[in-house]
Amino acid sequence: MSTERVQVLIIGSGPAGYTAAIYAARAGLKPVLYQGGQPGGQLTITTDVENYPGYPEGVMGPQMMVDFQKQAERFGTDIRYGLVTNVDFSSWPLKATIDEKTEIEAESVIISTGASAKWLGIEREQELNGRGVSACAVCDGFFFKGQDVVIVGAGDTAAEEATYLSKLANKVYMLVRRDEMRASKIMQQRVQNATNIEILWNTETDKLIGEEDLTAVQVVNNKSGEKRTLDAQGFFVAIGHKPNTDIFKGYLDMDDSGYIKTIPGTSKTNIPGVFATGDAQDKIYRQAVTAAGSGCMGALDAEKFLAEKELELLEAEVA
Ligand code: NDP
Repeated sequence: MSTERVQVLIIGSGPAGYTAAIYAARAGLKPVLYQGGQPGGQLTITTDVENYPGYPEGVMGPQMMVDFQKQAERFGTDIRYGLVTNVDFSSWPLKATIDEKTEIEAESVIISTGASAKWLGIEREQELNGRGVSACAVCDGFFFKGQDVVIVGAGDTAAEEATYLSKLANKVYMLVRRDEMRASKIMQQRVQNATNIEILWNTETDKLIGEEDLTAVQVVNNKSGEKRTLDAQGFFVAIGHKPNTDIFKGYLDMDDSGYIKTIPGTSKTNIPGVFATGDAQDKIYRQAVTAAGSGCMGALDAEKFLAEKELELLEAEVA
């Protein structure tokens, strides 16, 4: 296995990772960034981003991430395709294995691994994934043009995706497990304005039906117990996300959901030299702009850590 030493290793390529890269590269730290399994992160599977400051007309998510990448490259970030498959934070320099073959020795690590869509965990959900079942309306909605679809969830993601699907599908059933939606008022308004979205309150998924492909969804009212079968070719799960932090378990302090704990007001984790940014440590705001801001914090904290470490090593040499 080949080994390489780097000053700053950035794991992940969403707004947090690329912003950390821009700052670290401009500070002359020659960051190496591994993009992970979804280069560009979650924004590559969204459409219009209308709330990122600086784009008065909005911008397409994938385009925004291309722009982030270009800006990071412009200052000399070494951007690589690859997945960090293992880490060893038990001693310094910190270690990371890429694609199970390359070993990196890092003087500092900035974690920007983001989060991934959650699944319901019901029977046949994974078997029918790609055959009617999806966790990304923007990626797969096109395949259900003119058909009937079901979407589960009541947050901003579900509301946004239901609205998106309503423009493609014939009919959208939205399953909300409570009698109210968590989504922001403006998003709820958009759902209610769409004439082909039917909201089923207090309703959960009972069964996914179909031989090869999904053909129907049996739902149940959790108040009355009444069941109903909806003919639908598409089933979209939009119930939130899980942080991509499994490889750091055992080293970093995390909350019960796996979000990395940082010292408030910083990106510092419990391990000196390891910094956590973006959705991997933020379960509250989870916005592109807050992720970018925290990526900046990660780079500035890493820069300070490296300067202090250098001093510490020099002093040890003199002593
Ligand atoms: P959220 O965690 O906000 O919402 C998840 C939704 O899924 C909730 O309504 C929840 O129901 C429901 N849910 C969870 N588990 C189940 C289950 N097993 N069965 C049925 N329903 C379930 O996640 P989002 O992805 O919607 O949003 C995450 C963050 O990103 C939020 O802060 C949001 O504001 C933001 N966001 C902003 C957007 C924008 O501004 N353009 C677009 C998308 C997201 P319950 O309410 O009952 O808990």
